Amino acid sequence: MTTTDKYDLVIVGSGPGGYVAAVRAAQLGLKTACVEKSARLGGVCLNVGCIPSKALLDSSEYYHLAKEHFAEHGIKTGRLTLDLATLMKRKETVVKDLTDSVRKLLEGNRIDIIHGTARLVGDKQVEVLSGNRKKRILMGDSILLATGSRPVEVPGMSFDGQGIVSSTEALNFDMVPKNLGIVGGGYIGLELGSVWMRLGSKVTVIEMLPKIATTLDGQVGRALDRILKKQGMLFHLNTRVVNARKTAKKVKVTLEKGGENTAMSFDKLLVAVGRRPLTEGLDVEDAGIETDPGTGHIIVNTAYQTSVQGVYAIGDLTPGPMLAHKASAEGIAVVESIAGHAGEVNYDTIPSVVYTWPEVASVGLTEEAVKEREIPYCVGTYPFSGAGRARCMGEKEGFVKLIAHGKTDRILGVHIIGPRAADMIAECVLAMEFGASSEDIARTVHGHPTFSEALQEAAMAVRKCSIYAS
Ligand code: FAD
Ligand code: NAD
Repeated sequence: MTTTDKYDLVIVGSGPGGYVAAVRAAQLGLKTACVEKSARLGGVCLNVGCIPSKALLDSSEYYHLAKEHFAEHGIKTGRLTLDLATLMKRKETVVKDLTDSVRKLLEGNRIDIIHGTARLVGDKQVEVLSGNRKKRILMGDSILLATGSRPVEVPGMSFDGQGIVSSTEALNFDMVPKNLGIVGGGYIGLELGSVWMRLGSKVTVIEMLPKIATTLDGQVGRALDRILKKQGMLFHLNTRVVNARKTAKKVKVTLEKGGENTAMSFDKLLVAVGRRPLTEGLDVEDAGIETDPGTGHIIVNTAYQTSVQGVYAIGDLTPGPMLAHKASAEGIAVVESIAGHAGEVNYDTIPSVVYTWPEVASVGLTEEAVKEREIPYCVGTYPFSGAGRARCMGEKEGFVKLIAHGKTDRILGVHIIGPRAADMIAECVLAMEFGASSEDIARTVHGHPTFSEALQEAAMAVRKCSIYAS
């Protein structure tokens, strides 16, 4: 039997886009349902993305510190051993606690959580098929699609879940692979590569372009390349994987560089060459919703409305960076706009972070983009080796780079490679939101000794008045 329920807003997907939108909708008095096909709420981000990867990055960084750096602080540990099962169990606990918190959050806001797979079936109607084959029709004055994305699969190296894997399996290996191959030198390749390298894997990254982390400011990207190589990560750039084949014990890979083929073999091959919007099963085409034939994104207007009136889309499903905070910001904006408020997102100030060690955090334009747009500009840089706090922690790698308009001094972009860059970038985002100049940051008193003093010095360096830079 099919039951029908009526809502102001039906949201499909409970990731950082969907669940944040649901809470904002409830706050604004909308009767809201959130449909999720997985047993756990929180989407890719909480279950197989941001959170488990950062839990592994933090644990593996502690292991690395204990192994390589405790002794210089006078801390003797004796023989160090790794208990991978406990490390993974801890990660699972972090994930479970956070996904349980999302459920409590939605329940506390009286949002109906409906488990099952959703598809669009008619005018403002969503059909939900649950595990027991029960069908339910949800009617919504508005429908919000927030179904996220899935890893891109490359012909010739299909995922098999064992040898050739996506990030989901690479978050869950039950032993440290001796030899880990990674296709793609982007966010996932470098972050999960760092995890397994710290835990003992020999990590080889195969990237088809001439550099890793292609979206970074060039100077910062080159520094990251140098630092990761020093840590032991191996890079094959300008290199394509022709095919990969799982044998009894290894994954055999054929690489092509400059017209020449070579063979390599790995214990595991992680393929991380990007993600694609997840519209499969939603029946968007039948519903008349336009998608980009190249990227698969759902096309939306500035109010996040699709080509069908009353149906909206946000997050990884739509163009822009595939980041959790972008999805959440859009979730708030779309609901505010549905409720008649002025909801919008400033896409010029969305920060991005690569959680390697040191971290890399950016906001705004890179130096290459400023040059390409022929904007007059000044640059100030300052190394962490000149910051007292960084010296105390033994973290001397990296620098802050601040790019300001050559005439108005308005901040155009900030790029940080160094300890705690992920947290430091927030000050730069706020400064850009307020249209601040480099002088505003330079004249703002920063606590001492902190990492953020390096940002203040970089801002001073824009006008050549850094106190400490030589
Ligand atoms: P998702 O989080 O993908 O959620 C979509 C939800 O919709 C899922 O729960 C899915 O089960 C559900 N769904 C799909 N189809 C249906 C259907 N038909 N019916 C019902 N439910 C459905 N971003 C960051 O900002 N910082 C990070 O550190 C970071 N680390 C990452 C690490 C990894 C390994 C990966 C893979 C991604 C990472 N990301 C990170 C990206 C981030 O996870 C995504 O940008 C974010 O999750 C997108 O949110 P979303 O709400 O659009 O979709
Ligand atoms: P990515 O776009 O970051 O990097 C993919 C890399 O693979 C690129 O450098 C690309 O040139 C390369 N590539 C593409 N095809 C290739 C091929 N056939 N052979 C060799 N190299 C190839 O994608 P990702 O690392 O898979 O991550 C997906 C998305 O998830 C990211 O774009 C990001 O939005 C999100 N993410 C964010 C974070 C974070 O915020 N810290 C962490 C992980 C993932």
